[in-house]
Amino acid sequence: MSAKIFDIQSGINTCYVIKEKGTIMIDGGPPKMKGIFLKKMTDYSVDPEEIQLIVLSHGDFDHVGSAKEIQEITGAKIAIHEKDRMNLEQGQFNWSKGVSTWGKISRSILMPLIRNRVTSPSTKADIILDDSDVLLNEYGIAGRILYTPGHTMGSVSVLLDSGEVFAGCLAHNGLPFTFHPALPIYAENIELIKESWKKLIDAGAKMVFPGHGKPFSVEIIKKYIY
Ligand SMILES: [Zn+2]
Ligand SMILES: [Zn+2]
Repeated sequence: MSAKIFDIQSGINTCYVIKEKGTIMIDGGPPKMKGIFLKKMTDYSVDPEEIQLIVLSHGDFDHVGSAKEIQEITGAKIAIHEKDRMNLEQGQFNWSKGVSTWGKISRSILMPLIRNRVTSPSTKADIILDDSDVLLNEYGIAGRILYTPGHTMGSVSVLLDSGEVFAGCLAHNGLPFTFHPALPIYAENIELIKESWKKLIDAGAKMVFPGHGKPFSVEIIKKYIY
């Protein structure tokens, strides 16, 4: 059985619900996304209580902001890497530094506007990820979580055995970030991002489902990293 993939556009970013034998979710969206989440679950005929696991691709506010609320609705466990857990567990605000010209400019303009206006309700993680792969079989998904640092030091991706990869902010595809699929404009370490992409490609990644924007072929990423 191949997985069904449902996207949830939050306005800022894209979360995903993956349904196979079991159901998991990628990312918790920005703060106050509960209404959009519930509406989308109704549209897709997915019972929120089916969702057993929420994998947070990293700790930035637009990916962990509604994790607590969605956990309360679904009863799902939350997984985050140990290096980003403080963003979830203590509501620490994070926004990786700009690595392109537009990344630097946009961050310096937007950061002061956003920083004091958003608070992400904090909650404890149920599963703290380290650098090793985690198989998702016990959640009814043929795939695994891989450690893919670079955007933040605690970034992870979910790779399905069928080649779809949910890569968080390891790539950006769309405004206000980029005009087309590309490496992210914000990153802790852009070289580490390239290494993480190589790891995903070697592991069988084919189709990229980014945290911002529409899916695209991993072939597009190859020209940025080799
Ligand atoms: Zn991010
Ligand atoms: Zn983001």
